[in-house]
Amino acid sequence: MAALSLRNVIKRYGHGPKANQVIHGVSAEIPDHEFIVIVGPSGCGKSTLLRMVAGLEEISAGEIRIGDRVVNNLEPSERDIAMVFQNYALYPHMTVFDNMAYGLKIAKVPVPEIKTRVDKAAQILELGHLLERKPRELSGGQRQRVAMGRAIVRQPKVFLFDEPLSNLDAKLRAQTRLEIQKLHRELGITSLFVTHDQVEAMTLAQRIIVMNGGVMDQFATPEEVYSRP
Ligand code: ADP
Ligand code: ADP
Repeated sequence: MAALSLRNVIKRYGHGPKANQVIHGVSAEIPDHEFIVIVGPSGCGKSTLLRMVAGLEEISAGEIRIGDRVVNNLEPSERDIAMVFQNYALYPHMTVFDNMAYGLKIAKVPVPEIKTRVDKAAQILELGHLLERKPRELSGGQRQRVAMGRAIVRQPKVFLFDEPLSNLDAKLRAQTRLEIQKLHRELGITSLFVTHDQVEAMTLAQRIIVMNGGVMDQFATPEEVYSRP
């Protein structure tokens, strides 16, 4: 079964004669564990597509499935997804542990289970020795890892990444890219990663969705997308 299916997904902003259609019927089946990168020029609809999967933007027509559930009308918190943003806004007054645990507390996950999940994520992300620190006491890379930890502990079916590396300097970008690769190797969570950076697409993607003007131009391996005959 596909982890994520998009079936003739359409997005219009606005209503009536002034409506602006920005996604024109995108369909794709994404199998379990696959790492998909969405690329394309600015304004082509990458972020809109991702936000519709997240439930942050309504879909105008078509169907989005996560696992065996149609999620069109579900809230983000009900979708079995976790999202990593480029501004990884951590809560400044909370420790690393509490930052990672917060979403689970809200979801009323039992405390021992929260501790187990946060400890496991901290181990994978090498944050174990930093759990009592506040965000301001961390390096940029460590903060980025806490933001990923917050997503991991939710144990989502699908990870959504909205250009998470674009505000980082070159060194940290390369480091975080490796971190994401390692996470995917260890956890195998189906991932949808939006970027306009070809290096990120080539190093992270198993397959690439190329968007252009709200249409899916290609859905193919990095070799197929970037080999120019
Ligand atoms: P990308 O992420 O590829 O840069 P977006 O998904 O942000 O593209 O935008 C796709 C199109 O939708 C653009 O033409 C953009 O101007 C338009 N758009 C995005 N968000 C809104 C919005 N909230 N209201 C109206 N139009 C929007
Ligand atoms: P609140 O705004 O209620 O204080 P949050 O901002 O943490 O709490 O979460 C708002 C909603 O979004 C919650 O229902 C939570 O389950 C969900 N949520 C929080 N973080 C993520 C994430 N990384 N990915 C997906 N959903 C999230």
